[in-house]
Amino acid sequence: MRFALFENKVMPEKLLTSSEKTHRISFIESIPHQELNKAFSYNKELQLQLSGKQLLLDDLSFPLQNIHEHYENGYLHYRKGLTTEKNKSICQRCGNQDKHFFARFPCARCGEECVYCRKCIMMGRVGECTPLLSWTGPSPYLECSVPPLTWDGTLSDGQQTASRRVVEAVQNNTELLVWAVCGAGKTEVLFEGINQALTAGKRVCLATPRTDVVLELTPRFKKVFPNIPVASLYGGSEDRHLYAPLTIATTHQLLRFYQAFDTIILDEVDAFPYTADETLQYAVRQARKSTSSMIYLTATPNEKWQQECRQGKREFVTIPARFHRHPLPVPEFHWCGNWEKQLKKDRLPSNISQWLQIRLDANKQCLLFVPKIEKMEKILPLVRKLHPKIKAVHAEDPKRKEKVQAMRNKETPLLLTTTILERGVTFPNIDVAVLGAEDRIFTESALVQIAGRVGRSSLAPGGNITFFHYGKTEAMLRAKRQILNMNEEARKKGLIDY
Ligand SMILES: [Zn+2]
Ligand SMILES: [Zn+2]
Repeated sequence: MRFALFENKVMPEKLLTSSEKTHRISFIESIPHQELNKAFSYNKELQLQLSGKQLLLDDLSFPLQNIHEHYENGYLHYRKGLTTEKNKSICQRCGNQDKHFFARFPCARCGEECVYCRKCIMMGRVGECTPLLSWTGPSPYLECSVPPLTWDGTLSDGQQTASRRVVEAVQNNTELLVWAVCGAGKTEVLFEGINQALTAGKRVCLATPRTDVVLELTPRFKKVFPNIPVASLYGGSEDRHLYAPLTIATTHQLLRFYQAFDTIILDEVDAFPYTADETLQYAVRQARKSTSSMIYLTATPNEKWQQECRQGKREFVTIPARFHRHPLPVPEFHWCGNWEKQLKKDRLPSNISQWLQIRLDANKQCLLFVPKIEKMEKILPLVRKLHPKIKAVHAEDPKRKEKVQAMRNKETPLLLTTTILERGVTFPNIDVAVLGAEDRIFTESALVQIAGRVGRSSLAPGGNITFFHYGKTEAMLRAKRQILNMNEEARKKGLIDY
């Protein structure tokens, strides 16, 4: 689209009645804001769809004429989708500045060669002629006449402490890291803080990197907040235009929001791939209001964050113990020699075979983590000699869901897996081993998560976690130390009984 600039406002080319000179929006120095005309009767549906968002014209199904009237009356603003600084393009939607993620093409919309962002192209093209639309009129009224939370469960002592801190952060618009061990029950810790935010008419977003988690959390939150609309956003979801006081979204979906939320809760901060970290941080910055609170949830903060916590530079609260008051199982380290060389000779290191055999004999289910798919394929026929029902699963496996289900149904005695099962899945009573724990893919955080698969249920709170390695790594040592530290802290605070 092209705009003309005259009488201190912009006008889309299609609505022009005179022959003004037109430009692509990226090349208009600044887009004049219009003063809010209180007498204007604005479109309530447009208000709901656009409040706190940054959308493309294509995302909205209103006539351009109608949309533009809202601009002329100060209810809407056009921002440049792409800006240029020192000859460098910057995508205003996703924050991309990397020139490898920009391309040019002959654009039919502006009739010129247009630069566009490839990084966020799956949400619709943002190019030099693309305006991002935001609402600048009054916010929709969020009614909250009854207390929204109906949960009547109880919190553990550790959860209680964390819950109080979350409430404080929400009230004071500050940042807080909730560092909760795997199996501590971090979701319940959010309920009271969200409740208070909603009661105060605030807008809350719970964001997580994975669609699976959005799908799992949505019904839980709908159940405890039954009287308010909850929007559930992921690629292809139907709630795209639902204006809700509580939004549960993939972090990716935050890219469509703009100054929307008073509270953002970011779940599993560490699970986000490091390379995409900048996009995520940009998305979060854009999506939160300038005065807002930010809660980070994780079981395994990265090294930098751990250091900031120790140095008192980051506000945090730990939940060092699980709900069932048993300590976290501590990893055992076992040297298994040059296992890759052994595999080439179609052999498994003997201590690994032994570890597996003991569990197969005792009917104890287990997971064996392997660093790479190709190694897994090599190992599968070898372990199948021990038991024919052993299976293997990896990220691109089309039967992934069925295989996880078969494990849940106890039909599979041993499941070989890559790191995809490191988080999110819970099997009640299993032992876990890592083969080749020295591999770079097994970061401190991955190893803590893997160890966190063991002993989750109160009926089987113990279990064995073993790292088989060909040389200990710093990540292995740090993972073990982190687990020992949490157990020690939990004992000191009287949060475990055993
Ligand atoms: Zn972009
Ligand atoms: Zn164009």
